[in-house]
Amino acid sequence: MDLRDRIVACCQITFPCLKKKPTPTSNEKRDIIVIQNVPDPFNVPQATVPMSDNTYIALYGYTARTAEDLSFNAGDTLQALDKSCGDWWLARALTGVSQNKQGYIPANYVAPVESLDAELWYFAGVKRVDAEKLLLSGENQNGAFLIRDCESQVGELSLSVLDQGRVKHYKVKRLDNGLYFVSSNRAFPTLKELVQYYSNNDDGLCVRLGLPCRKSEAPQTHGLSYNTADHWEIPRSSIQLMRKLGAGQFGEVYEGRWNNTTPVAVKTLKPGSMDSLDFLREAQIMKKLRHPKLIQLYAVCTMGEPVYIITELMSNGSLHEYLQKDRGAHLRINDQIEMSAQVASGMAYLEQQNYIHRDLAARNVLVGDNNVVKVADFGLARVFLKDNDPSSDGDENVYEAREGTKFPVKWTAPEAIHDNKFSIKSDVWSFGILVYEIMTFGQMPYPTLTNYQVVQKLRTGYRMACPPGCPKVLYDIMMECWKDAPSDRPTFETLQWKLEDYFDLDDSSYDDASRY
Ligand code: ATP
Repeated sequence: MDLRDRIVACCQITFPCLKKKPTPTSNEKRDIIVIQNVPDPFNVPQATVPMSDNTYIALYGYTARTAEDLSFNAGDTLQALDKSCGDWWLARALTGVSQNKQGYIPANYVAPVESLDAELWYFAGVKRVDAEKLLLSGENQNGAFLIRDCESQVGELSLSVLDQGRVKHYKVKRLDNGLYFVSSNRAFPTLKELVQYYSNNDDGLCVRLGLPCRKSEAPQTHGLSYNTADHWEIPRSSIQLMRKLGAGQFGEVYEGRWNNTTPVAVKTLKPGSMDSLDFLREAQIMKKLRHPKLIQLYAVCTMGEPVYIITELMSNGSLHEYLQKDRGAHLRINDQIEMSAQVASGMAYLEQQNYIHRDLAARNVLVGDNNVVKVADFGLARVFLKDNDPSSDGDENVYEAREGTKFPVKWTAPEAIHDNKFSIKSDVWSFGILVYEIMTFGQMPYPTLTNYQVVQKLRTGYRMACPPGCPKVLYDIMMECWKDAPSDRPTFETLQWKLEDYFDLDDSSYDDASRY
């Protein structure tokens, strides 16, 4: 008897075999088989880790940025020792590269062991379009899958599977007694057991489940480290400027390194561009605004000039430049709508927080990998001193002085231009212009008109025509944003779901595992 046979023989005694549970009364008519988890004898965990309520699994790898941090890899087990800091926890590594070492970890990189969030195949908050993008990214093999929250029915789950270059979606439903199923003839007490069963049998699915979909890159940490999360005035010496990325009205932007470890963007402000106290007051609020579609403000250097604003670094620069460079070579209508939806999602968060952007435009949206876009520069328009000398490499046509202040006239709602009435609804107007920029690959709005002519013509009810190739539904959205009365314009929440639902999510877009 070789080793494998011996293990199998041993397992026949040690492990329970596949059980058919007595059929629950509510399922009698369906004749549902309930499958329970069968331990895999060839996949015995390497090390036994003492579990407690404070034991977590790393979802992503993290490389220490300071001497007080702990490095770890995805899958390592960590024990939280002190969670009082909120976003950064003091932890001890129970396995992996830092085993038995202690240090700070970003709390959003870990999930409680045995929780749904800790499962490699569970993609919380990932939408159907994103699931398709992730599965089709080329890093996955046939059968790659993920389970996500269903968009059309809150509280329900969907299974997305890669099959022959196409992604199929199945609803994961629950019976009254809590059992999970994708096909009406087999139900499981837990999702883990459902996944395990369909990893061994296709049984109605298009393909047997393979490896979990590759996770995209790790999320942004909240703040640069545990001690900048609250004390975020950082020493200028901790910032190294590497490469100039661009310049705007108020200064230059560099790619930089914090503490010689962490890539960041550094906005250097021209002396006199703002009142430091005003900025610090605003920055206290901006720092608390956290959303995956908003650029995160990490830290500031306000002691001395120039003031540095340290933010998340985005690999593809401003959306305006990105659109102009592409001009339709790679970006398709789906990408354009998806980018618009991402901006609407970031803005819906600001709307919920009662915060006004005041300068929403493609130049103030930044692009990362895979067409991820994030809203930048929110709130800054309020603190910049508008009589600052605009002679810079920035676009001088954009901001025009009107009665002592400067506005990006073609993006600004009439009530904001005439009566200085900025509101989330004036942001909605700007959003309409931003969608126009996206649909025209970064064309200047009202291309044939001067700022003055635009102000005059808007008074008479004039609006821009539908850009060539732009679907009517999208143009209708722009026109809604440009309604005269601010209260008639949609909310960002509505704009977000309209754009996200553009690709019609009804039940017919799901596959049925029972029909095979
Ligand atoms: P304005 O000052 O008129 O708003 P702007 O938004 O283009 O113009 P900045 O915000 O100073 O000016 O940015 C200048 C350029 O620097 C951007 O166009 C972009 O290419 C680059 N940039 C700014 N922030 C980042 C960032 N976080 N990551 C990567 N690139 C950035």
